[in-house]
Amino acid sequence: MTVVGPMDRRTVGPSDRGISSAPVRPSGGPPVLDVRDYNFWYGPSQALADITFAIPRRAITALIGPSGCGKSTFLRSINRLNELIPRTRHTGDILLEGVSVFSRGTDVVALRRQVGMVFQQPNPFPKSIFDNVAYGPRLNGLCRSRDIPERVEQALRRAALWDEVRDRLASPATSLSGGQQQRLCIARALANEPEVLLMDEPCSALDPGATQHIEELMVELKQNYSIVIVTHNMQQASRVSDYTGFFYLGRLIEFEATKQLFTRPRDERTEAYITGRFG
Ligand code: ADP
Repeated sequence: MTVVGPMDRRTVGPSDRGISSAPVRPSGGPPVLDVRDYNFWYGPSQALADITFAIPRRAITALIGPSGCGKSTFLRSINRLNELIPRTRHTGDILLEGVSVFSRGTDVVALRRQVGMVFQQPNPFPKSIFDNVAYGPRLNGLCRSRDIPERVEQALRRAALWDEVRDRLASPATSLSGGQQQRLCIARALANEPEVLLMDEPCSALDPGATQHIEELMVELKQNYSIVIVTHNMQQASRVSDYTGFFYLGRLIEFEATKQLFTRPRDERTEAYITGRFG
């Protein structure tokens, strides 16, 4: 694995340059994440090229685009999960609160606490409901042990799960329904007091009722957290997100306020995608 430092900005060849993602900087204070000319490779294969945009704070940003266009790769770049894959490398930079996530001083464990992640398949630990949520605060020493129960309750409340589990905190997490397990995973991330919540197709394994529950929860959570969601579901993106980025062939083609992108896309490829001309 080679991780290229933020200072090493290699030049992308002219043949790669053709399409550029114009930087869009929404108004409303400094962005929580600032992505600068970010490129990523799996071995010789370039998965992301010239990604430059700013992700607004306390808002929901949706990333859409056909399968294989690099959405998940981008998401996993933010908390450096891609580094676990051998023979990957990147150039460019991603700043979290103005500081490069790739800087030498970055503690990756602390980064992944600050940038929580929820995956497509709910993945609770084979532990009790309580221990799933207490795991991060215990591991990271975020509070005194006598304060853990309060922290667990707070996280479960924020994830809109408390009322359903308050009487069965010692039960295995696997005894919960799929939708409840996904909210438990959200609670587990929230217990670490993250700034950013990354969600990689968090509803694709859920039924419509559980999906609606998670969507409502996201809208609630954006008051306190910045959320980035990858979704293949354009209706979901248009329902819940404030900003949407359209990825295509490893590039960010367009990044706009969601309403603008879905009603007046600037790029013909965005229009073709959102009108279902390719998928
Ligand atoms: P999306 O999330 O938009 O479906 P991905 O980020 O999963 O796209 O994939 C982008 C590209 O990177 C695809 O060509 C995919 O095959 C490739 N890719 C994803 N993961 C790996 C991996 N672990 N090793 C090699 N190539 C990968």
